[in-house]
Amino acid sequence: MLKVQDMLSERTRAIDVSGIRRVFELGAKLKDPINLSIGQPDFPVPEELKQAVIKAIDEDRNGYTLTQGAPELLEKVSARLVSDLGWNLPSDETGVMITSGTSGALLLSAMALLDPGDEAIIPDPWFVIYAALGNMTGGRMVPCDTYPDFRMTAERVEPLINDRTKYVLLNSPSNPAGAVLNPGELRDLVELCRRRGVLLVSDEIYDAFTCSEALSDGRFPSPGHYTQDMLIIRGFGKTYGCTGWRLGYAAGPAALIRQMAKLQQYTFVCAPSMAQVGMAAAFDVDLSERARIYERRRDRVVEMLGDVTGLVRPQGAFYAFVPVSPKLGLSGTEFVERSLARNVLAIPGAVFSQRDTHFRISYAAPEEKLEQGLEILRELLAAGAAAGP
Ligand code: PMP
Repeated sequence: MLKVQDMLSERTRAIDVSGIRRVFELGAKLKDPINLSIGQPDFPVPEELKQAVIKAIDEDRNGYTLTQGAPELLEKVSARLVSDLGWNLPSDETGVMITSGTSGALLLSAMALLDPGDEAIIPDPWFVIYAALGNMTGGRMVPCDTYPDFRMTAERVEPLINDRTKYVLLNSPSNPAGAVLNPGELRDLVELCRRRGVLLVSDEIYDAFTCSEALSDGRFPSPGHYTQDMLIIRGFGKTYGCTGWRLGYAAGPAALIRQMAKLQQYTFVCAPSMAQVGMAAAFDVDLSERARIYERRRDRVVEMLGDVTGLVRPQGAFYAFVPVSPKLGLSGTEFVERSLARNVLAIPGAVFSQRDTHFRISYAAPEEKLEQGLEILRELLAAGAAAGP
């Protein structure tokens, strides 16, 4: 046997998935666990989108599409950016492309922007792929400490900018905390990036699941309302419950989109064709009922855990990032081990952060299970709240 283990690149070795794997391995051993670890919508794909994708297959739209994306979806995405953000499209300065999930857009943008030693600023806590983008490109992902309220504000970002900084990666609503920046904070961040000559990259995969109190004039607050000179990354997977279809899009400076498309041509080639064609119908689907259901569950999570922890009320996505009281004397990982012993699966904060003081639950779970899980977590957390100073 070849010693393949010894051949592996530094880049591969540097990526550590042990924290997440450990949770999944432990979870696999549980019989009928209360699984609050999965960041995936628990509702089916809307029927009209299923039918649209089936129709695309039947109509033989199964070959490669243009690298940049199927024309009918590109057109819809551009129209969406015009109506949602007021962007001037089509335009020579701004490009749009369809990617293989938002992950595809995140990787292509990092590859197009970062040379070894270059820096990008990411939130801490971060979505797991963000940290790995550094390993994969040779760039350095610099964590911006956003504890305790998880807001990646201009004030927190500015001291981290230096000559090697290429971009700031914002995620609002955020994974794992559900934090949503308000228009004032977004404007400040846009202004900071403009002033310091760095690119703002906004991962807006959870835009559709922004709670009502965090909307601005009824709309999702995006930095794209204040500039077109930035990169917006959005997805379809979480929004419509089709994470396996691998579909997202990126829009921003044409000079960058062109390079991302070049890299896509030699890697992913194109996003899945039938999904692209079918999802041209996506923006006509009414998601308000689903958003309302997630908001109701968010309220329930806060109701159950808010008084036994210092939980920061999530304002979007479908996660809560719950602090473990220091009085319990447990790290986030140790707390998750304790909850596992009670059949509840959560993810330790250390998977997303330099700290190990919190854990993440997803409320994209069947409500009965969620309720059972919250009861148990409340009981475990309350031990710390009752222990006194
Ligand atoms: N960004 C964030 C913040 C996420 O939480 C996720 C998925 N968990 C992604 C990007 C990747 O999504 P996709 O499946 O579209 O690649």
